[in-house]
Amino acid sequence: MRRRLIAGNWKMNGDRESLAELDGIAAAAKAAPDVDVVICPPFTLIERAVARQPSLIIGGQDCHSGVSGPYTGCTSAGMLKEAGATLAIVGHSERRAAQHETDGQVKGKAEATIAAGLVAVVCVGESGAEHEAGKAAERVETQLRGSLPVAGGDALVVAYEPVWAVGTGRTPSMKDIGAMHGLIRGVLRELLGADRAEAIRILYGGSITAANIAAVLEVPNVDGVLVGGASLTAAAFAPIIEAAA
Ligand code: PEP
Repeated sequence: MRRRLIAGNWKMNGDRESLAELDGIAAAAKAAPDVDVVICPPFTLIERAVARQPSLIIGGQDCHSGVSGPYTGCTSAGMLKEAGATLAIVGHSERRAAQHETDGQVKGKAEATIAAGLVAVVCVGESGAEHEAGKAAERVETQLRGSLPVAGGDALVVAYEPVWAVGTGRTPSMKDIGAMHGLIRGVLRELLGADRAEAIRILYGGSITAANIAAVLEVPNVDGVLVGGASLTAAAFAPIIEAAA
């Protein structure tokens, strides 16, 4: 049985004052003991977030594939771990687009994350143009084959985030989410074997709110969600945690 995972990605939002939101989020998490609740704040807030609410899973939003070296502005998975993070998102569509990250680079980051002892959340998802052209399945399968590490036990989570649904208020139909998550489970079986594929959680991400969470969580093979905008406040995120409980 896979535990539900509800993850919030604060992106480049939040400051020390925003950490007060973690109190309400942690209270909701406490009332949902069967759900894993994650917040990924900006790097600068990780250590304070862990100190403020140690019961939450605190993660990074990215990491470098190397351990150390001349990579100005980058953060290694080991550095995230030292700050108290236990998870890292890699391959988010905003990084794939703005930083031109390739599947191979995302795979390297996921491998480094797992090697450092953290959980890697590998994001995949088709663009709006690929969606319109009926190429979503092909794109996601290519990303999975290129981005997923083959080692790592169940320290691997896949997040399906159609790019056109991220931050737009648009979501795919429940039927389409189910079809894509079924496809992802099938590719996981092929790449990693049936037992491991069953243990890996597959999240949906893209414009999740309190209004649509219940329907999305009913879709087969949806084991949780990755949430951007609605994770920034306890008022918006707590109902999403409650719906997963
Ligand atoms: C995201 O960026 O991962 C995301 C899902 O954002 P939003 O919930 O705001 O669409």
